[in-house]
Amino acid sequence: MRRLAILGSTGSIGCSTLDVLRGRRDEFEVFALVAGRNAGLLAAQIVEFKPRLAVVATDSVRESLIGRLGETGMPVSAWPELRCDARARIEAASAPEVDFVMSAIVGVAGLEATYAAAKLGKRIGLANKEVLVASGKLVTEAAREAGAELIPVDSEHNGVHQCLRAGERGDVTRIILTASGGPFRKTPQSELGAVTPEQALNHPTWKMGKRITVDSATMMNKGFEVIEACWLFGVGPAEVEVVIHPQSSVHAMVEFRDGSVMAQISATDMRMPIQYALTYPARASAPVPRLDWQTVRHWEFGPPDLEKFRLLALAYRAQETGGSATCTLNAADEVAVEAFLEERISFPGISEVVERTLEKVPVRQPGSVAEVLEIDEESRAVARGLVGSLGASVRLPWVARV
Ligand code: NDP
Repeated sequence: MRRLAILGSTGSIGCSTLDVLRGRRDEFEVFALVAGRNAGLLAAQIVEFKPRLAVVATDSVRESLIGRLGETGMPVSAWPELRCDARARIEAASAPEVDFVMSAIVGVAGLEATYAAAKLGKRIGLANKEVLVASGKLVTEAAREAGAELIPVDSEHNGVHQCLRAGERGDVTRIILTASGGPFRKTPQSELGAVTPEQALNHPTWKMGKRITVDSATMMNKGFEVIEACWLFGVGPAEVEVVIHPQSSVHAMVEFRDGSVMAQISATDMRMPIQYALTYPARASAPVPRLDWQTVRHWEFGPPDLEKFRLLALAYRAQETGGSATCTLNAADEVAVEAFLEERISFPGISEVVERTLEKVPVRQPGSVAEVLEIDEESRAVARGLVGSLGASVRLPWVARV
């Protein structure tokens, strides 16, 4: 029996993970559930999965979780230990009972707990890409030293992980990540200033959390994935190519020395990579309907527009720069996406804030996760200042129309 800690259990990946576990109760047991603020959903998950520990972001959320659990009728004697804050997140991921950590908190809030699990040599299903974007060097070094396995859950990297099983590492010449191109693939650059949060949240092929959905619309997400691929597979940014593939059926490809290309193809459903990470190296029966090869399908592939999707180009540049540049990239993007969703800046304002933050924050070589978090905080402060000045000078077309 494998015991799990699920970091981000109330999110899109967390819920899909629990859904996979519903079919595999005889192999997996939930030891800890870690969430942010959604006390109602967490209470329902506690009743169903009976973890020994449940963690939320703050004391007030913990209070509301107690209220919600009281309403469920679950006897208090059967409740898990209820904790809150960053320390408790770390303890959930490092508990000796836990042998698999699903890292699916959004943003750097998941960094310390994931790092702690890596240092203890636990197997980690890594969905939280910001962990590697902010602190790839420290986390991958810790995992290597402790013998922790980082199994990618991000569908593209999961696809690469599968393709790599077909050959020798030394024979790999290129890693190819596919990108749907998001909802604005065909929108002319001149019209992006009028994009509303609602339009940006309408992803054509994937249903995900808000931040990653907006990041997919700007293609920042693909930029993060390039960085993530560099750390996971030990390659430089020049060896990672992004290809637009609107149908999102081919998740990734790996090209070998002899020119042969292996592709990983499957249904666009995150339960596929989640189950793979849970059961690797075994392959369990498909958790979702298989692709129907008798249905006519048309797959397109093409290059990304790096001028229109500037954040993708910036991600390549930040990874080449190295050090804390990618940490700043992530922090600035998180602030800018939030400001866009709150209608304080325009859609093109996101890349402007990120680019200008990168120019302002000096690049350093962080030697600890604490230093990474300091640089993250400093970058956020710079980005917030830029949002303030940019927001004051920008009239959002859709707000003006109301
Ligand atoms: P969601 O926004 O749906 O969920 C985020 C999760 O993080 C929620 O459980 C949320 O809790 C929790 N959380 C947020 N802040 C805190 C905090 N301070 N302390 C504890 N928990 C916190 O995101 P997704 O599930 O979409 O994405 C999760 C990660 O996986 C991201 O890094 C994303 O880039 C990555 N990913 C997601 C994919 C997808 O298909 N969704 C695909 C590939 C990667 P609550 O809701 O209770 O506040």
